[in-house]
Amino acid sequence: MQADILIGSPAEALVSNDSVILIIDDNPRSIKALSLLIRDFGQVIFATSGEAGIAMTMKTKPDLILLDVEMPGMNGYEVCRQLKGDVATRSSGIIIVTSHDSVEHEVAALEAGAADFITKPLNAPVVRARVKTQLLVKKQADELHRQAEQDGLTGIYNRRYFDSYFEQEWRRHQRQRSSLGLALVDVDHFKAYNDSYGHQQGDECLRCVALGLKAALRRPGEFVARYGGEEFAVVLPYTDDEELHRFGPWLCEQVRALKIPHGWSEASDFVSVSVGLVSCVAGKICSHTQMLGQADEALYQAKANGRDRAVIATKSSS
Ligand SMILES: [Mg+2]
Repeated sequence: MQADILIGSPAEALVSNDSVILIIDDNPRSIKALSLLIRDFGQVIFATSGEAGIAMTMKTKPDLILLDVEMPGMNGYEVCRQLKGDVATRSSGIIIVTSHDSVEHEVAALEAGAADFITKPLNAPVVRARVKTQLLVKKQADELHRQAEQDGLTGIYNRRYFDSYFEQEWRRHQRQRSSLGLALVDVDHFKAYNDSYGHQQGDECLRCVALGLKAALRRPGEFVARYGGEEFAVVLPYTDDEELHRFGPWLCEQVRALKIPHGWSEASDFVSVSVGLVSCVAGKICSHTQMLGQADEALYQAKANGRDRAVIATKSSS
């Protein structure tokens, strides 16, 4: 990255630095010419065949791909169709680069899923303008994606995110035959809190608890989502029962330590939570839905036992 060529329009500043642009072209000279034109927009990487380009997209998830059409083996249109047809790679924007300057080729590029089209010989201002536009489009799409996964009230992940990622994690752990942990967390006597302190204060309470739970996470891959109302879900990769025995009470402690006064709780003077936990090793529980059901039963038990506590689901019921 060269600081002296970072100066530009505000839009240029927006897409600089952190974007990753992949050039897929069989001709090293074309790669060099293209990368010289766009290197101030971000990190430029390259691949010299369609197959290598697909592999690199899987690995690096580039923001934008500049894709040559004329390549031996897989041509650019085929590469484009494959990348756009795979959920793992389709979020990268693609600009097709070709020496064929005809409407038919432009239509073929768009039909293959490309966002735009650049013709050779390269025209520097046109290349830069098109690349800049697509990087901005990608930034906006990423932002929308982030908002779609976020709970509006608490700012943590929402139920939609939980539903898709919990299942994904469950499948991954099944494949790897490793243990996945799950905690369902419910704010004790939250209805009484809302009724006595008002909804605004109730919302503030949920925000605090959400942040407290998020701060309680320690390991990569762990995440907390708002499961609904005053209920939260925590996904704990590579976690077994032994670790749940430590994690459950600790989670309760973290919420107690927030010291949010709750004059109408029978469980404590402060806002507290009940936690139901379960861990699952491949084959022990036959679906992620059952895992959720068991955590829910354990949560029910924690409430029945007097709240402000954690209960781990017993494996004999699986
Ligand atoms: Mg070529």
